[in-house]
Amino acid sequence: MQFQNTRSFAQELDAQDDLHKYRSEFHFPKVKGKQVIYFTGNSLGLQPKRTKSYIDEVMNDWANLAVEGHFYADKPWWDYHERFATPLSKIVGALPSEVTVMNTLTVNLHLLMVSFYRPTKTRYKIICEEKAFPSDQYMFQSQVDFHGYAPNEAIVEIKRREGEHNIRLEDVLAKIDEVGEELALVLIGGVNYYTGQVFDMKTITEAGHNAGAIVGWDLAHAAGNIKLELHDWNVDFASWCSYKYMNSGPGNASGCFIHEKHHNASLPRFAGWWGHNKERRFKMEPQFDAVKGAEGWQVSNLPILSLAPYLASVEMFNEVGMDAIIEKRNKITAYLEFVLQEIDKEVDSTFEIITPANPAERGCQLSVFLHGEGRSLFDYLMQNGVITDWREPNVIRLAPVPLYCSFEDMYDFGQILKQGIQSVH
Ligand SMILES: *Cc1c(COP(=O)(O)O)cnc(C)c1O
Repeated sequence: MQFQNTRSFAQELDAQDDLHKYRSEFHFPKVKGKQVIYFTGNSLGLQPKRTKSYIDEVMNDWANLAVEGHFYADKPWWDYHERFATPLSKIVGALPSEVTVMNTLTVNLHLLMVSFYRPTKTRYKIICEEKAFPSDQYMFQSQVDFHGYAPNEAIVEIKRREGEHNIRLEDVLAKIDEVGEELALVLIGGVNYYTGQVFDMKTITEAGHNAGAIVGWDLAHAAGNIKLELHDWNVDFASWCSYKYMNSGPGNASGCFIHEKHHNASLPRFAGWWGHNKERRFKMEPQFDAVKGAEGWQVSNLPILSLAPYLASVEMFNEVGMDAIIEKRNKITAYLEFVLQEIDKEVDSTFEIITPANPAERGCQLSVFLHGEGRSLFDYLMQNGVITDWREPNVIRLAPVPLYCSFEDMYDFGQILKQGIQSVH
């Protein structure tokens, strides 16, 4: 399709867009009385209007039933989390028994590492990406320390090549080969939070297994954004947060995946009563008997008030379906890229999109290097109703989230960007 950088063309794309109607299902902040252009759904998704009724339902049940709500609420609390298994499994490409919701992301990765990072004297190394998300780096260091190994020996980072922004698949595979028999675990962010690069999870998982290692994925920027086939890719474990693309609210509950092949294994884990045999849970027996499946990794009874908004979101995702989300995502991201290229021709500055150009290697994010621009441009954007984020030295990350961003937003953004560059120079 030949794009045009005009309002009428953008409006035409919106008119053809089946998902356009979902835009009115979200609350948008306002700047100077006007609804913002929201590009930070990769950091905190907007609030769906339907979410409040899910929370109100729990508040009402609590008011009216108190402890009886555990069993007699409309959606009883004792098994509230089971409502996620089927819809969430479709979003991440899993069997219902392979997914559950609990805790928060870094906590879940720690708990999963208890089961899946089992270093020995000869096989103790972890492969991760260079400049992984800071929480992941602290997690690796503390886990390795906890097991008595030296982080600088045990943690092996895959580097970008000089002058390149993205990590090459061949370099990941070469590193797995090189570490070989010393490799215990590969754990990488499936979508890089800074560049938006999507890794070839299928190929990397297979290579890790061939080296005799376990392979897990941090899917913070992947869940609700890209097509995942965790079961078929034979991924051992994964976890994600729900407040980015999944729109479930600040700091909200995390999802995790544990492949079926591990459900019968007697893996070590940090246990709690919510992972115990459901028929016998309230018999308060002394001996832990894990539920078969991902639920067996549950620890505490669940924070129902935080699951409620996540359930609202998961149900919306299932209504729409990942295929429709991905189809629009590809189109709107390509349109944003086109608008940036057009504006680039009209102004002195140069924009360098550091996210891969190949749609198979990116999701809903373009990270843009603004050569010659400073923070004042970012401030101009924020003051003029474009919510984006700024990463040193001068990168803005733009996520045109398909559920609530419009093609016209992309056009408007281009115009505001152009005015901003002209006014800050
Ligand atoms: C957002 C993000 C996190 C956040 O972790 P929390 O435990 O939810 O605070 C972790 N890892 C990656 C890669 C992220 O992008």
